[in-house]
Amino acid sequence: MRILITGGAGFIGSHLCDRLLAEGHEVIAMDNLSTGSIENIAHLAGHERFHFIKHDVTNYIYVPGPLDAVLHLASLPSPVDYLNYPIQTLKVGALGTHKTLGLALAKGARYLLASTSEVYGDPLVHPQHEDYWGNVNPVGPRGVYDESKRFAEALTMAYHRYHGVDTRIARIFNTYGPRMRSDDGRVVPNFICQALRGEPLTVYDDGSRTRSFCYVDDLVEGLLRLLFSDETRPVNLGNPQEMTILEFAHKVLEVTGSSSSIAFVHPTDERTKDDPKVRCPDITRAREVLGWEPKVSLEEGLRRTVEYFRGRV
Ligand code: UDP
Repeated sequence: MRILITGGAGFIGSHLCDRLLAEGHEVIAMDNLSTGSIENIAHLAGHERFHFIKHDVTNYIYVPGPLDAVLHLASLPSPVDYLNYPIQTLKVGALGTHKTLGLALAKGARYLLASTSEVYGDPLVHPQHEDYWGNVNPVGPRGVYDESKRFAEALTMAYHRYHGVDTRIARIFNTYGPRMRSDDGRVVPNFICQALRGEPLTVYDDGSRTRSFCYVDDLVEGLLRLLFSDETRPVNLGNPQEMTILEFAHKVLEVTGSSSSIAFVHPTDERTKDDPKVRCPDITRAREVLGWEPKVSLEEGLRRTVEYFRGRV
């Protein structure tokens, strides 16, 4: 297949490029490099089935030749990024999704939207099943990301229903692994880099919020199974092993062997405003329809991720 991946130089996008190339596909990675990095795909330069186009997907997209699939991963998924670039976040979810859906329609390509667990907002149903409609504050600081993805899902379904585009929607929960940016502000790179530098781990508030962390290889496997399935309803992809952020901090200390302390900090900016108190995917649908569930343990995934950051800190 000839496949376009927007956000192809990003964390998850670049892993998808690797996997699709390894399976014999032709891959066109598109990225404006605002948060993605050329370093993530540098090893693919010169590969005969790999192409890179530097482009902002909120503008008209031109791709010569046929396309079998369009995977729309371009986004600003880190809270630090979407708080710094709120309008660009809304544009990539709205205009970028519109442009990529238009491209899929014109090329007769299958379309996969990388959506998010943030569509559930600060959830009142736990764990989150795909039929839950969510609890999002549209006017809060996180609203720019959450609503852009909710709009993206609505637009994807409109193209599916009205134009008959063959669409897939993946609701991606917290994912981690090599190629996350050390400065993207999320808890995994923050804690690992702090631990490796011997600095205190910055646990926000009392550390009682929960998250469930999925290793990137598991996530990529889930995305591919979804792409090649017939499932047009949204599918949660994430690891259902839930823990508090404080527990996670101790796990990072254990895996890194660091003697860093834990610092409870209370951010005064908007970073933790509307921060979901709990998050855990119900992956019944992914299990039943895709035969998928995560395989990589947190210890193993963290070990691989720590190795990556060790070379950078
Ligand atoms: N968090 C934290 N310390 C940090 C970074 C994040 O305690 O240095 C918390 C954050 O408030 C949230 C959780 O860790 O409750 C996960 O945050 P992240 O930004 O990784 O992703 P989110 O799930 O919020 O999108």
